[in-house]
Amino acid sequence: MKKIALLGSTGSIGQSTLSICESHPDRFHPIALAAGSNLEVAFAQCQRWRPQVVSIATEALADELSARLKATGINGIEVVYGTAGTVRVATLPEADFVVSAIVGVAGLEATYAAVLAGKTVGLANKECLVAAGDLILAAAREHSVDLLPIDSEHNAIHQCLRGGSASEVKQIWLTASGGPFRNTPLADFEHITPAQALKHPTWVMGQRITIDSATMLNKGLEIIEACRLFNLPPAQVRVTVHPQSTIHSLVEYVDGSILAQISVTDMRLPILYALAWPERVPSDLTFDMAALSHLDFQQPDFERFPCLRLAYEAAAASQNHCIALNAADEIAVEAFLAGKLPFLGIPRTIEQVLALTTSGSPASIPEVLAADRAARELARELVAR
Ligand code: NAD
Ligand code: MG
Repeated sequence: MKKIALLGSTGSIGQSTLSICESHPDRFHPIALAAGSNLEVAFAQCQRWRPQVVSIATEALADELSARLKATGINGIEVVYGTAGTVRVATLPEADFVVSAIVGVAGLEATYAAVLAGKTVGLANKECLVAAGDLILAAAREHSVDLLPIDSEHNAIHQCLRGGSASEVKQIWLTASGGPFRNTPLADFEHITPAQALKHPTWVMGQRITIDSATMLNKGLEIIEACRLFNLPPAQVRVTVHPQSTIHSLVEYVDGSILAQISVTDMRLPILYALAWPERVPSDLTFDMAALSHLDFQQPDFERFPCLRLAYEAAAASQNHCIALNAADEIAVEAFLAGKLPFLGIPRTIEQVLALTTSGSPASIPEVLAADRAARELARELVAR
């Protein structure tokens, strides 16, 4: 039985993780949960799973959650809050495996703490790898910690890398669905609304990553995520647009062989793979190979999706630029969803923030967070203009 600490339990990945625990009760059991502000769902999860510890965003929410648990006759759950609360969940001595699925840099400290505590980590939170991948990977090596990617593309690469050694890899190919605007003429981009951008053709996900898929910044973040996880330069991480999201990514070896991973478009599969690794366990997440008739591919369009270009540029420039890329996007997406920034304002804001970022590489997590705060501040000023 693996005891799971789940960061971001109320989100899309968090709920899919609990669904895997539900369908494999003899293998996986959640013993600690960290949520944001969704008190209703966090309360229902406490009722269902009776974790040892639950963390919620603020002290006020923690008081309310404690009171509700008490009123329902549920005692013995430790209720904590804020960043310290997420770190408590990530480092709980009884937990074997930490699923990192808080969205954004908010998940960084807890993820890093889990690595320092020697936990095996299933990583959905790509932003923490973009902001501090070098520090997280170095700590993982030092503490002999396994990092299992949950992001579907990186999970596919992890699987395909079992087919050869690192020195035999020529390059990797991340597949991209292309999002809802794959065929939208550039002239129409200025008028894209949040409601249109929130309709992803193949995946159901949280709001930030759905908007990032529409601008293709998500693929940009994934390029950097792949560079960090698999120790590759940006030039060896390629992107191909594959609208069906059937092949989740590919590894090209030096002899010319290309290995691909195919499965259902359902995040429960990469979650199950990470949780079960190095084993494979039976599931009902089967892909109907007999019904597959064709797969389409096209080259990514860097003109309509400048976020892709910006990500390659940030990856080539410096770690500070990668931090700024993510931070500026978090602010720009928030503003777009609030109706305060047009769709094309997202790449514009990121490009402006990157242009004002000086090269450098933070040596610690507090330095990463300081660079992140500075880039956010700058992005906020630019958005307000
Ligand atoms: P989501 O918005 O559905 O959920 C985010 C979770 O983080 C929620 O539980 C929320 O309460 C919590 N949270 C937010 N701010 C917090 C804070 N300050 N403190 C504590 N908790 C906080 O997002 P999601 O789609 O589940 O994505 C989670 C992460 O996984 C993201 O980094 C995303 O890029 C990555 N990811 C998601 C998918 C997917 O299919 N949803 C696929 C690949 C990667
Ligand atoms: Mg992905």
